[in-house]
Amino acid sequence: MKLRLALLLPLAAAALSAHPARELVERTVAAEYPSLEAIYRDLHANPELSFMETRTAGIVAAELRRLGFTVTEKVGHTGVVAVLENGAGPTLLIRADMDALPVKEDTGLPYASRAVVKDIAGKDQPAMHACAHDAHVTGLIGTARTLLAARAHWSGTLVLVAQPAEEIGAGARAMLGDGLFTKFPTPDHVIALHVGGDLPAGFVATLEGPSYANVDSVDIVVRGIGGHGARPHSTRDPVVLSAQIVLALQTIVARELKPGTPAVVTIGALHAGTKRNIIPAEARLELTLRSYDEEVANHLIASIKRIAEHTARAAGLPDDLLPVVTVAEERTPLTYNDPALTRRLAATFAHWFPANQLGTVEPATYGEDFSQYGRTTHRVPISIFWIGGTDPEQLAAGRRAGKLVPSNHSNFWAPVPEPTLKASITAMTAAALELLGRK
Ligand SMILES: [Zn+2]
Ligand SMILES: [Zn+2]
Repeated sequence: MKLRLALLLPLAAAALSAHPARELVERTVAAEYPSLEAIYRDLHANPELSFMETRTAGIVAAELRRLGFTVTEKVGHTGVVAVLENGAGPTLLIRADMDALPVKEDTGLPYASRAVVKDIAGKDQPAMHACAHDAHVTGLIGTARTLLAARAHWSGTLVLVAQPAEEIGAGARAMLGDGLFTKFPTPDHVIALHVGGDLPAGFVATLEGPSYANVDSVDIVVRGIGGHGARPHSTRDPVVLSAQIVLALQTIVARELKPGTPAVVTIGALHAGTKRNIIPAEARLELTLRSYDEEVANHLIASIKRIAEHTARAAGLPDDLLPVVTVAEERTPLTYNDPALTRRLAATFAHWFPANQLGTVEPATYGEDFSQYGRTTHRVPISIFWIGGTDPEQLAAGRRAGKLVPSNHSNFWAPVPEPTLKASITAMTAAALELLGRK
C-alpha cells in the first residue's frame, strides 16, 4: 500500500486535554519501548510469507498468553486470537496482519532480512517485511501491554487478532470462515492501523468512507494458430492480437467511464513465444483492476471480456479459439471506513497528538483485506487508520528534488522504528480507551 498525503492541516485544533490514563500510557510506552524494538528487529530479520507465519504467530501467542490473555492459535491456518475480559462493556477487536512479501531486502539496515523461506506452494523465496506488517505485530503487542497497565481505566472485552496472509487477500476470510466472529466474542467495532511510507514517521491520519480499492485479478489467454515466422499468412498471430487487446483495453477507463471515476486497468504481465522465428499458438496476459464502486468493478470486467472476444473475432479467430478470460473468484472488496467510527477516532487522536501530527489522506488504489471484517452479516463498523513511517527529512528532501522516496513494497523501504512504533501504540491505545467502556 502507498498513500498520497492530501492534507497536512490539523483535523481539529483541539487542546491536548489529558485523558486520565494518558500519563500512565506514556510511561508504559517509554518503559516497554526497548523490549518492543527488540521484538520488532527480530520480526524484521525473520519475515514469513502468507499463511506460513508460524514463528511470528508463536511469538504473538506467547507474549499475549504471558500477559494473561486467553489465546487460541491456528485460527484461519496461522492466525492468533487473544481475548481479555475486563468487566461489562463493549467488545473491541484490534487486528494486525503478520505476513511479509517475496522481496529481497536492500535497505542495508543492521537488522535487514537475509531470509530465503518457503512460500505456501513450497517454493524458496527471498522475503522481506516491505509492508511494515512487522511494525503492526509489534504495535499489537505494545498495545496489549499498555491496555493491561491501564486496565483500571476501561471495561469490556478486548479481542486482539494477528491475521495471516493479508498480502494475498486471503487471511481475513480464512479467520472469519474459521469462526472469528462466532466462536469468539462478536466485536462491536473492529479497528486496525497501517504504517505508510508516504507519511512522516509518527504522523497519524484517518479517512472516512472508501479508503482502499476493490481489487480484481483477471487472466486472459489469447489463442492463435502458430506457425513459421516466415509464413504469417498461414497463422493467426496471438502476439499481434495481444498487442491490439492491450491497447484497446486502455479505452475502458478513458472512453467508457464517466470522467473523474476512479478506476485502474493494468496489464502487469504479457507472456508469449519462445523463439524469434516461431509464431506461437498462445499469449497470456495478467491484469489487475482497481475501483471504488461495485458497478464500476463489474463494468471493467464486462468490457474486458467484450473487447478480448471481439478483437479476436476481428483478427479472424474462429469461435473455438476466442480468448479465455478468467476472473479470480474472490474480489478483495473496497475497504469502507465507517464514518461515525472514523470521526470518533479522529476526535480522540486530536486529544492525544499535537495538531501538526494529524491529518487525512486520499483513498489508496491498493487493496486491503481488512474490508472483510465489515462485510459479514454482523455488519460490524470498521476503521483502519495510518501511521507515518518515513523520516520527515527524507520525505522533504525527496519532494524538493522531485524524487520518489521509497515506500511500502519497495526493497529499499522500512519504517523508522521509534517514532513509528510509539505513535502506533499510543494511537491504538487511545482508540481502545475511547471505544471500550469507562470504569
Ligand atoms: Zn502490502
Ligand atoms: Zn500491508
